[in-house]
Amino acid sequence: MKPEISIEFFPPQTPEGLEKLRSTRAELAKLQPEFFSVTYGAGGSTRERTFTVVKEIAAEGFDAAPHLSCIGSTRESIREILAEYKAAGIRRTVALRGDLPSGMAETGEFRYANELVEFIRAETGDWFTIEVAAYPEWHPQARSPRDDLAAFVRKVRAGADSAITQYFYNADAYFHFVDEVRAQGIDIPIVPGIMPIASFSKLARFSDACGADIPRWMRKKFESFGDDSDSIRAFGLDVVTELSQRLLAGGAPGLHFYSMNQSALTLEICRRLA
Ligand code: FAD
Repeated sequence: MKPEISIEFFPPQTPEGLEKLRSTRAELAKLQPEFFSVTYGAGGSTRERTFTVVKEIAAEGFDAAPHLSCIGSTRESIREILAEYKAAGIRRTVALRGDLPSGMAETGEFRYANELVEFIRAETGDWFTIEVAAYPEWHPQARSPRDDLAAFVRKVRAGADSAITQYFYNADAYFHFVDEVRAQGIDIPIVPGIMPIASFSKLARFSDACGADIPRWMRKKFESFGDDSDSIRAFGLDVVTELSQRLLAGGAPGLHFYSMNQSALTLEICRRLA
């Protein structure tokens, strides 16, 4: 059976990037995703660009889910953005805390994502389907796994409908996380975030920053390929396809692809999963 999928983009900075994203999207649309989501820079740095891509997606007839991060923002600015999305007929959002850009000291009027979820519900009732972030390997700033689980439960109780995880390469971390959440009486879908691997060096840098673990056996194997990008690509495709298969076989409700605005790897993984 074809898995239910969603696909994430970031808003390009240039007209060329926007044009390229249109063709990437046309390719990925063949997968008939449930929605395309578009990231949002903390403090509102991509507000206009995110909205531009979201409007294009909606105009093409797809469900668009703008991400919205609250750190560094005022209630008034979030209220305005929600009103803009509502007026544009957008019905889904990914509600996040975000990370303060370096040099920005002001946390604004929200501290954590649960406060944003609560605010969206208070302002717009049931208009939006609200997605939140989940961390099977725990958020890097969490005081403890127990505190992070409690923070996740708070976001759900504040009104989240569904969750998308940080990417990971260890399926057991996901299954363990889901069990822990279910034990708290929470039954919302928890969709694994899937990061296809195009470049190992970039992935390694990124993973260090966001707290995603690359297992030793994978790291060693990738390192052994040096600059051989064909081998990196082939091994990455095998690993991520097998991970996706295991997740779906173990009951994951779908897959959310971090496309990095590229289509080829996501298309190939989904072709292998079909
Ligand atoms: P929260 O759920 O608020 O948690 C943040 C940290 O605070 C955790 O360590 C948690 O344990 C802790 N915490 C929560 N509540 C409390 C409390 N009351 N007291 C003490 N500690 C607490 N970032 C962007 O900037 N833009 C994006 O578009 C974006 N999209 C993302 C999409 C997905 C699916 C994921 C998984 C992440 C995304 N991120 C994005 C990254 C995200 O913003 C960062 O991981 C950020 O550091 C945490 O956001 P959060 O919503 O998970 O925060």
